[in-house]
Amino acid sequence: MRKTLETKPQLIQISAAWNSREGAPLGRNQYVELEIKKPKANGASTKLSANQKPCEKMAEAIVMDGGKRGQVVKVCADPTCRVHHPNTPSPQQVERERAEERKRIEKEKLAITTRHRILATILQRVSAPLKKADVLTVAHYLIGHLSYSQVPALAKRHKVEAKKDSASTQELLAKQVSTYDESDLCKLLLEISLLDSAYQRSAASRDDVLMDAAKRYRIDTEKLQKAASRGVTAILILKACSYATIALNQCAIQAFIYYTNVFVLLKRNHPGGAPELSNNVQKSASRR
Ligand SMILES: [Zn+2]
Repeated sequence: MRKTLETKPQLIQISAAWNSREGAPLGRNQYVELEIKKPKANGASTKLSANQKPCEKMAEAIVMDGGKRGQVVKVCADPTCRVHHPNTPSPQQVERERAEERKRIEKEKLAITTRHRILATILQRVSAPLKKADVLTVAHYLIGHLSYSQVPALAKRHKVEAKKDSASTQELLAKQVSTYDESDLCKLLLEISLLDSAYQRSAASRDDVLMDAAKRYRIDTEKLQKAASRGVTAILILKACSYATIALNQCAIQAFIYYTNVFVLLKRNHPGGAPELSNNVQKSASRR
């Protein structure tokens, strides 16, 4: 190998390893080994792969390690060669891309800084109580960030119904609250904030925002609870009544069917003259 290098000092030294240390020999990521095929005599155009094509930058190289150690092969180690290194950008291209990236980042930073300053200025100018447009902004933000279970709950409370192939429930809610006046918007903000607490079945948690709000508004929660349990009882009684009505109706229908069947049987067995039956039943039976 040393002899070969002595006679041909211009040989590129290459390594079988993908990545080599800085300098010689070159790793496989930096060169393409070429297997030049002569074009066929009959001129048949066979598709040649890149490493079967020659190029201007083609050079001889000696393998310094691995199984092919000492062999002299043809390689292309020029990153600017479009045939053998099509994916390797030229140094100018790399530099241009880096400059563009730096510019983009700087632009982004500037935009964010500007927006931070705008926010700071807004906060300097805002004062209590909020203006209607500000309350609406907060409402829209909250609606946009409702949890999965809060969306249907709030939609139901505000009688918003999402139809198929239309805007999402949240979008419809946002649209509807845009029509609210200041007082309804303020109510909505508190409503959303108390929604989870109001919809949890057991109020076991220590920080019960619903009960805190009730205390602030001097609401007699015990009285409400009694009324609610009376309400629940009333609902249960009403339900029981409606079930009883349904049962009665079913009884009546079944009695009617039974009665009609008996009538048809009687008529079949006594074709001359049926036993006395009311006209109504005869009419309805003949209709069937
Ligand atoms: Zn090449």
